[in-house]
Amino acid sequence: MSESIPDQTVWDVLIAGAGPSGSRLALQLAEAGASVLLVDALADLSDNAFSSAALPLGAVQQWQLPERVIAARWQQWQLLGPGEGKRHWGAEAPLGVVLDFAALRRWLAEEACSRSAALRLGWRVCSSQTLPTGMAQTELRGSGGRTASVTSRFVVDATGEKRALLGDPDPGQGALISGSGVEWLLRVSPDQWQDWAGRLSFMLGSRWVPQGYGWVFPMQPGLLKLGVCRLQDRTRRQPPLHQLQQALLERLQIKPEAVLDRHGGLIRSTIRRRECHQRGALLGLGDAVSTGNLLGGEGIRHALASADVLAPLLLDALAGRPRALASYPKRLRRRLGWRWSLSGRLAKRTWLGLSNERADRRLERLLAGLEATASAEALSQLLFEYRFERYGLRALPYLTGLR
Ligand SMILES: Cc1cc2nc3c(=O)[nH]c(=O)nc-3n(C[C@H](O)[C@H](O)[C@H](O)COP(=O)(O)OP(=O)(O)OC[C@H]3O[C@@H](n4cnc5c(N)ncnc54)[C@H](O)[C@@H]3O)c2cc1C
Repeated sequence: MSESIPDQTVWDVLIAGAGPSGSRLALQLAEAGASVLLVDALADLSDNAFSSAALPLGAVQQWQLPERVIAARWQQWQLLGPGEGKRHWGAEAPLGVVLDFAALRRWLAEEACSRSAALRLGWRVCSSQTLPTGMAQTELRGSGGRTASVTSRFVVDATGEKRALLGDPDPGQGALISGSGVEWLLRVSPDQWQDWAGRLSFMLGSRWVPQGYGWVFPMQPGLLKLGVCRLQDRTRRQPPLHQLQQALLERLQIKPEAVLDRHGGLIRSTIRRRECHQRGALLGLGDAVSTGNLLGGEGIRHALASADVLAPLLLDALAGRPRALASYPKRLRRRLGWRWSLSGRLAKRTWLGLSNERADRRLERLLAGLEATASAEALSQLLFEYRFERYGLRALPYLTGLR
């Protein structure tokens, strides 16, 4: 049974969703003295650890992520495909990490609680309205059919792509592009683990995963994550993801001793990010306002960054300057940068178009070019910092969808 919601007449901020964005915001607000209630529908933050959680090293340093949330380090990129070819780019020192997503969520929530945020698990937000007083009133449902109603000066929708309170954006504000992914956590032999350790491996091309990509990421010794992700295309029939996942396992000749967990989820973002970020006392954060990037299916850094942008503005608003919040969407767009939007366009074009031999040939040319000119560090900059312009004018028409 979930713990009951603490009695408090009015909270400064109710945060719905204890993912990376919600917990990071809770920490910052509570540290500055705000009264914060953080709730999550999960009964345990170790459940449904859906994210592959690969990050560049810079993010670990920027957010001072502790050793206990890091499952593995990597210093090599390995790309398989579009045919049977394999390409490697290696660096001398680690370029990034694969996190244990469950451990990351637990750590972030503990950090928030250590600053006096109240955390309640097993509580789902159902609806929220802004009262004539300007306060938010939010209805919650707990286990065993229990309900609660919370009054707060602000409520933050940090429920990820579900956007449980904000709802999906109006199509006029930009269509949501959806990518769905499934991932298995495998226990493998030490020899097999060694084949994939120290590198992020991606399988690219229509004969691997049409309109998407596959991956193998190392976790702690003996553990691998194997996944597939694909953009949803309503104009054609797409094979079930689990079938592609099984085919990947067989083709890579990975022989798991056990499948320890099966999880998955959606990334849904608009490309231009012009959707509403605030409605009355309700604000959106992280994936709930499209910070998830569709190119590499990654959004942990961007979710954390969105909290860093919102926190000082929300503190200003709590201190009696509500107009501070008007600059939130613009500041967040600036923080994500123009390359973020370009990468969204590139993602749509690359993944949706990757469905036939012609697209495979184009990808082959791009990869051959990268193999000839790019270092592992440059590839990291391309895929994590979206530094496309390094590849010159020849690449830009491809990247912007003109070729
Ligand atoms: C298959 C897959 C692989 C990924 N791999 C990577 C990767 O390698 N690297 C990377 O950086 N990113 C990756 N991502 C994306 C990344 O995980 C997200 O961008 C990030 O978790 C977003 O953080 P968030 O806090 O905005 O939302 P979330 O992490 O989605 O957190 C939302 C929280 O809200 C809770 N919630 C939902 N509905 C309600 C409700 N009604 N009431 C209360 N609580 C609710 C959920 O339980 C959840 O805990 C991946 C995503 C998927 C689906």
